[in-house]
Amino acid sequence: MRVLDRIEQVRKELDGAEPAGLRGPNAVVGSVPTMGALHEGHLSLIRRAAAECDVTLVTVFVNPLQFGPSEDFSRYPRDLDADVAAAESAGADLVFAPTVEEMYPGEEPIVRVEVGGELGSAFEGASRPGHFDGVATVVAKLFAITGPCRAYFGEKDWQQLLVVRRLASDLSFPVEVVGCPTVREADGLALSSRNRYLSAQERAAATVLYRALTSAADPDDVRRTVAAEPGVFLDYAGLLEGRLVVAAWVGATRLIDNLALAVA
Ligand code: AMP
Repeated sequence: MRVLDRIEQVRKELDGAEPAGLRGPNAVVGSVPTMGALHEGHLSLIRRAAAECDVTLVTVFVNPLQFGPSEDFSRYPRDLDADVAAAESAGADLVFAPTVEEMYPGEEPIVRVEVGGELGSAFEGASRPGHFDGVATVVAKLFAITGPCRAYFGEKDWQQLLVVRRLASDLSFPVEVVGCPTVREADGLALSSRNRYLSAQERAAATVLYRALTSAADPDDVRRTVAAEPGVFLDYAGLLEGRLVVAAWVGATRLIDNLALAVA
């Protein structure tokens, strides 16, 4: 497995001068974009890409464009050595871990992708202004760097998955977006790099999200259950494309989750 930090290296590895590049004449490239701090949720995406594709590229990049000014960009967990080892064990062929300067040389980009409509402005879009524009911009760059590929995204970030699907279709990227099921702890808490911010007490309280989603018939049920949990503060609960979506603060940590609405 190779670790790359330059955009040109990725292009060269996939398409370069070697007989026909890693992509080969008909090879399928699998792309797994992440912000690192890899856990079993990420690894499930990498394993699936490795099983379904000829070449698997894992990107590790904490994208400043998708963080708000008061969010956790600077303290977001970073451990590239551990990520490289985990990605390799899950079957990755390439890890692309660019610096911010490599992705956004000199300054922030003045040309960005804007996510409009309800999808861009509801729920996460309302709570985190600019977040999806930042996500769509970096994912568009990754699609442009990788070229034709299958790109694996988690259902854990349901609204993001819908945004990325629209990004691919609205801007005609030659990319097949593949949604993958949410990986959970035994007690239902969705795996997240941010779970490591939780104290033991907060970790116990955080299970309320999954409990609320599994027992709810509508967003009001989710709201009531979450609101009743001490130390947990609801941001929103709603319905998005057949799924109950929820966001809440557990202490200083903001968690999101979603589940298909059970049809009674
Ligand atoms: P992140 O590093 O948080 O940007 O996540 C990178 C990718 O992994 C995204 O497509 C996420 O939806 C996905 N992901 C994160 N957590 C999980 C999980 N618990 N189960 C499945 N996929 C996940």
